Amino acid sequence: MTSGASPASAVTSPLTPKLAGFGTTIFAEMSALAVSTGAINLGQGFPDTDGPAEVLEAAVAAIRNGENQYPPGPGIPALRQAVAEHQQRFWGIDVDPDREVLVTAGATEALAGALLSMLDQGDEVVVFEPMYDSYQACIALAGARSVPVLLAPGDDRRYHFDPDELGRAITDRTRILLLNSPHNPTGKVFLTDELNLIAELAIEHDLIVVTDEVYEHLLFPGARHVPMATLPGMASRTLTISSGGKTFNTTGWKIGWAVGPAPLVDATKTAKQFLTFVNGAPFQPAIAVGLRLPDAYFEHLAMDLTVKRDRLAEGLIAAGFDTFVPEATYFTTVDIRPLAPDGDGMAFCRRLPEWCGVVAVPNEVFYARREHGRHLVRFACCKRIEVIDEAVDRLRTLAR
Ligand code: PMP
Ligand code: GLN
Repeated sequence: MTSGASPASAVTSPLTPKLAGFGTTIFAEMSALAVSTGAINLGQGFPDTDGPAEVLEAAVAAIRNGENQYPPGPGIPALRQAVAEHQQRFWGIDVDPDREVLVTAGATEALAGALLSMLDQGDEVVVFEPMYDSYQACIALAGARSVPVLLAPGDDRRYHFDPDELGRAITDRTRILLLNSPHNPTGKVFLTDELNLIAELAIEHDLIVVTDEVYEHLLFPGARHVPMATLPGMASRTLTISSGGKTFNTTGWKIGWAVGPAPLVDATKTAKQFLTFVNGAPFQPAIAVGLRLPDAYFEHLAMDLTVKRDRLAEGLIAAGFDTFVPEATYFTTVDIRPLAPDGDGMAFCRRLPEWCGVVAVPNEVFYARREHGRHLVRFACCKRIEVIDEAVDRLRTLAR
């Protein structure tokens, strides 16, 4: 090779065609933009305050106590027991901590493990869009195909799906129905009637339901979370996924879990053991402490976030956005067209730091059919109230 020339293999991307188009996640791009511009980051959903002291202290104690080597493959018994108790205490779901609970590296790994272990080439996954970005990537990695069903705001300003579209999305190749409630990025909490309809179709077509419930405790007044596994006939076909990140302000710890019938948990474990094998030894006992905190902790968490949700939503409305007030989660979606008539959310988010020192996330990345989300942008409220106030003051300058 002559000096200065690169071998062909170094200039051609080795990326598998399965991941073509996935590039860098929007969260990484927008958080990097926040750092490089010094803007307020209301993009990636992570809190700017620490979680409960008991939980943090338990992790420190575990490190000092030498819990620093590989934990058991399925997770430490104390955490599996705490997850089982949590499912019973909050949702009335009975699970065997030894056979029906698997600890994972965040909900992300539980999702990856479930999808990689249960999908074959050519299988289809029915999934509501917009959707969390890892879903499509994992479905693609499994060689399967995602079949999106649109969630769109109705006259009541809640997001709805068309039952006929859902019915048409299910074919004889459908293997998994992937659900997320409370839902990122719309803030929708699926109603019991909607869940019943989904459950009936899952039973009729003998589908596995994988349900991502990471925002199960971030509910605003009036919203009620109904886990899919509690509906008649669903416990035997539902894998429920959650994690400690949002519930205990520990998104960087990546302690998650999958709960459900042993065959679904075992399948997920088979893939999971070759992804990370295990993770977070000292954080596992700490999340167990968190899951056992008194009800007051969980109530306060939701109340505190409600104040922030309200403050952000008021500010976004005052700034002139068409604002969809969420029922749960960190996120508020706005239609930018009153302020940016071209409705290009991606361009808007890339320029927003320069215009007014705030970072948000364009919702189009959460859609398989991107045109449906082109004009929508997501702001996170999981920040200190003074940070939210400063951000909305800055956003108000956009109208001028
Ligand atoms: N699912 C949804 C809907 C999310 O918003 C997120 C991001 N926090 C995850 C899964 C990933 O969770 P974790 O950080 O526990 O992997
Ligand atoms: N779940 C968080 C969000 O939607 C961030 C997750 C991530 O950065 N991958 O903002």
